Amino acid sequence: MDCPVRKCEEVRAPVTAVLEPAEQAESAKPVEHAEPAARPLLHGAPAPSDRTADVIVVGAGPAGSTAATYLARAGVDVLLLEKSTFPRDKVCGDGLTPRGVKQVLALGIDVSGDDWIKNRGLRVVGGGTTLELDWPTLADFPNFGLVRPRKDFDEMLAQLAVKAGARMYQGVTVTAPEIDRATNNVIGVSAKTEDGPQTFRAPIVMAADGVSARMATALQIHRREDRPMGVAVRRYYRSATRTHDDFLESHLELWDRTDPANPKLLPGYGWIFGLGDGTVNVGLGMLSSSKAFRSTDYRALMRTWLDGTPEEWGLREDNATSKFGSAALPMGFNRAPHYKDGLLLLGDAGGMVNPFNGEGIAYAMESAAIASQSVLQALGRPSGPSREAALHGYVTAMQRHLGSYYRLGGLFSKAIGKPAVMKYATRLGLPRRHLMHLVLKALAGLYDQRDGDWADHAVRLMTSVVRSA
Ligand SMILES: Cc1cc2nc3c(=O)[nH]c(=O)nc-3n(C[C@H](O)[C@H](O)[C@H](O)COP(=O)(O)OP(=O)(O)OC[C@H]3O[C@@H](n4cnc5c(N)ncnc54)[C@H](O)[C@@H]3O)c2cc1C
Repeated sequence: MDCPVRKCEEVRAPVTAVLEPAEQAESAKPVEHAEPAARPLLHGAPAPSDRTADVIVVGAGPAGSTAATYLARAGVDVLLLEKSTFPRDKVCGDGLTPRGVKQVLALGIDVSGDDWIKNRGLRVVGGGTTLELDWPTLADFPNFGLVRPRKDFDEMLAQLAVKAGARMYQGVTVTAPEIDRATNNVIGVSAKTEDGPQTFRAPIVMAADGVSARMATALQIHRREDRPMGVAVRRYYRSATRTHDDFLESHLELWDRTDPANPKLLPGYGWIFGLGDGTVNVGLGMLSSSKAFRSTDYRALMRTWLDGTPEEWGLREDNATSKFGSAALPMGFNRAPHYKDGLLLLGDAGGMVNPFNGEGIAYAMESAAIASQSVLQALGRPSGPSREAALHGYVTAMQRHLGSYYRLGGLFSKAIGKPAVMKYATRLGLPRRHLMHLVLKALAGLYDQRDGDWADHAVRLMTSVVRSA
């Protein structure tokens, strides 16, 4: 079988069925499913007969491609519609904690190659202290993280979906859901294609269209103002000294040291992730709970921060290899319900970025795995109340999976939006390695659901006392 895609040799044979993320690591039993012929990544307008499917997935980011892969592997006829054309860039930090790695492994992707930059933990810098924390050893998650540019990562995931049998069309901008006026149910989507406007039909549509959430907005599923939102900006730099790093580096305080005699504390948090190829991904973010959220010029802020970092790191204008890119981080389920009238919301479209640490790829892929389960259950039932109940099951499953944890994250983000609290927490926490072991588990969602050490118990206790909403 010809492989039309550059990286498809990384994909091992069929691996897991679509399981709840918590179950995936434990499943060792391969599931039999036929390997469909590989298809190219299609461009432009499909023929009319190609415009119907069992499921339409809107958007081929981590959420959409993951959902399309799981469904296609299960034999579902999936249309994956993507407005851009691969390879395309995506504004991101390019970092995967072990939570994200788990989702990559669950898809059967081999991460042993040189394209994947492994890391062993998180380096936290703040309050005059630098602390290196190894990723914990857990039953539920691997003990390493990864870095891979999204330009590459997202294309690889999209190709995985295509290899599984999903029919992917690029350069197709979905403009609105198609709605059956008699039932009010979504029955497809309309889109702009190379050949003009077209309609695609499927009884179930998965909206994985990112933070723009065009599909959700069309169904009047609006953003919840009571949930946190972030903004982040990133840029690539050449940096011989920082490109190789065993740790993801996180700066809890950003300092303006352009006048060394008079350092000033800036709002926000920052990161430096080595890409191992002579470059680094550097960025900063801020939460909506911060006073400076709306009034900040993020690019200027980043320049000020980086100008004060050591000269030998090379994080200066001359070494920049990209433009600034910025985007919103929709957090803590800030768009809900996650299912309505035939439309499921996945990843950023459902506001699924972790409010503790701004990580979104892992959660986009987790939501895709869980949503695929509900869709498989729905497709196996006749249309009507039982099918509807299966699709509504996705809402309940996401709440069970992350509801309390994200509620806790919302409280956390409110608290650290206040610079005084952040400063106090940094100075109190960072010098205490024992406490930071707990903090790492809580902030990165890296705790075991059963058993584990005292910190796993403590995080589970905290989430259990917070009402899931
Ligand atoms: C600066 C920054 C840094 C970040 N750093 C990290 C990090 O290091 N690690 C991490 O885990 N997360 C990070 N995140 C968050 C992460 O990027 C997102 O949470 C993640 O991309 C969500 O995946 P998704 O599939 O839901 O959406 P997306 O990745 O946004 O994918 C959506 C896809 O849908 C397509 N699309 C959109 N509209 C349409 C339409 N109308 N029709 C057809 N297609 C459409 C888009 O082109 C895109 O391909 C960062 C975010 C930002 C802004």
